[in-house]
Amino acid sequence: MKAKDTVMTDGELEAEIRKDYKDFTIKEQTPEIEDVLCWTREAQAEISFKAGIREVVEWMFESCPHAPKNFPSDKRMCVQCCEAKLKEWGVE
Ligand SMILES: [Zn+2]
Repeated sequence: MKAKDTVMTDGELEAEIRKDYKDFTIKEQTPEIEDVLCWTREAQAEISFKAGIREVVEWMFESCPHAPKNFPSDKRMCVQCCEAKLKEWGVE
């Protein structure tokens, strides 16, 4: 998966904006505003994607609370930790 795969669709963006502006539609915007919306979405996807990767990597190297004290391990080595994290993210 790449950052561009996470860019919101027009429908998703409209739904998001309509939380604050009930009657918003992309089709009624000027081409200039459409361009800005498009660019903003791509930039946001890139930022979120990188933040997501960083979160995963940091999590992986945290120490696992299930490992015995004389045999410290990190969370990526632990089935229990991995299963809990996948559940938290809704990936099963
Ligand atoms: Zn664990």
